[in-house]
Amino acid sequence: MTLPTSEPRLATVAVMGGSVAGLLAAAALAPHAGRVVVVERDRLASGPEPRAGTPQVTHAHGLLASGRAAMESLLPGLTDELRARGAVNRGDIGRSGRWWVGGGLLADCDLGLEGLALSRLLLEHQVRARVAALPQVELRADTEVASLRVESGRVTGVQLRGRDDDCREMVAADLVVDATGRPSRGPRWLAEHGWPRPRDERAAVGVRYATARVAARPGDLAARVVSVSAAVPEVPRGGVAIMQEDDTWIVMLFGYAEQQPPLDPDGFRAYARTLVSPDLAELLDSRPLLEPPRAYRFADCRRRRIEEAPLPEGFAMIGDTICSFDPTFGQGMTVAALQAVALRDVLGSGGSVPAYHARAVEIVDRAWVLVTGAVRQLPVLEASPRVPENLVARYVARAQRAARRDEKVARQLMRVMNLLDAPPSLMAPRIAWRVARAGSRSNPEGKAPRVA
Ligand SMILES: Cc1cc2nc3c(=O)[nH]c(=O)nc-3n(C[C@H](O)[C@H](O)[C@H](O)COP(=O)(O)OP(=O)(O)OC[C@H]3O[C@@H](n4cnc5c(N)ncnc54)[C@H](O)[C@@H]3O)c2cc1C
Repeated sequence: MTLPTSEPRLATVAVMGGSVAGLLAAAALAPHAGRVVVVERDRLASGPEPRAGTPQVTHAHGLLASGRAAMESLLPGLTDELRARGAVNRGDIGRSGRWWVGGGLLADCDLGLEGLALSRLLLEHQVRARVAALPQVELRADTEVASLRVESGRVTGVQLRGRDDDCREMVAADLVVDATGRPSRGPRWLAEHGWPRPRDERAAVGVRYATARVAARPGDLAARVVSVSAAVPEVPRGGVAIMQEDDTWIVMLFGYAEQQPPLDPDGFRAYARTLVSPDLAELLDSRPLLEPPRAYRFADCRRRRIEEAPLPEGFAMIGDTICSFDPTFGQGMTVAALQAVALRDVLGSGGSVPAYHARAVEIVDRAWVLVTGAVRQLPVLEASPRVPENLVARYVARAQRAARRDEKVARQLMRVMNLLDAPPSLMAPRIAWRVARAGSRSNPEGKAPRVA
């Protein structure tokens, strides 16, 4: 049951941070609040432009199927608006990409969900335009949250600070949502008021990126809109190419264990030739780069264990504030969108913020298990030695091999990778017997990974 929109349960919500998670939280809560104030530190341009608070946005951002569906449910019509602005949609996500996972190319399959290829800049811009147009929402750009107001054991508002003026406004709120991302100061501020700080769990990955764009041509990669070459233990590096709304491909190469893909064009191309998939080299070898490759470093996945430490009433967390994942898995925006849907559904049906946090943690768990399970098989940093292959990892590797020819196994693997199903679903009897059956066969379509 949802509350009638004429009787908002919350008078005012303050959302700290106006990136993807903050905007989607505002969309989720607007139907249940009289007023939603989104506070963003950066100055916001009128178009899709990079800004200081989100340095990752000029790197490739893949949108998982469940993330697009969640955003669409929060902002109906968003997919069509993005398509109208050039985002590329070639039908089912299971047939519109080339997924080189576990050393081979997965079979095409139907997931029943559309894929959408576009830049992160366009996505955030359009989400922001939609959210800013909601009658309950007030977007305060160029303004930062300087502290939390805490009274009688609950958070009751945020103290604002303008960048160029003497703004010292206090916004009183029934609920404050922390969407300030990985470096969030929220837990530190709460600790100053006596609340225990959630434990930080880290998984070292030492991923280094290089990103550049090339012009797209008709028929590239058999008319697919994305190609992913995942890292495997023998080749601990990979890449992704995603078609963009301006008829370009954004190509991001990455290496684990601090292995930086070269930033000069020839070295960048040569690195692409060492990946499991030939797709990215094919795109890069045949045309000039549109700009010099840009670097990005991501040292570790970081998760705040909010389930272990009580949070005060009136305070919720979402997105990278709770957990930032190894970006090569393309999960961050989708996790934020799924959490925003949970926020809407739980609070909208009279549930509590702790009940929302329990759902948010479940969503994180699903993605975290995938990332840490895969990364532990890679030779990453000395500080986190490679975990020897165990039974589960051996089974997953067999499932990946089976998925090169078996559409049903490929579909289940894609559902897990797109956060639609939990990883144990890969071991359901209907999948397990297909994996076992395929295990004894050789696979002519799968390409054996080259040794690093
Ligand atoms: C290189 C790279 C590639 C990635 N690729 C993908 C991908 O392919 N697919 C995917 O789904 N995800 C990807 N991600 C993750 C994705 O970018 C994030 O998960 C996503 O941006 C959601 O983050 P967020 O909104 O929680 O935080 P952020 O995007 O970090 O935003 C936090 C916001 O809070 C603002 N802020 C901070 N402090 C304050 C304050 N005190 N007051 C007011 N405002 C404040 C900041 O200016 C910023 O706008 C990638 C990340 C990286 C680093």
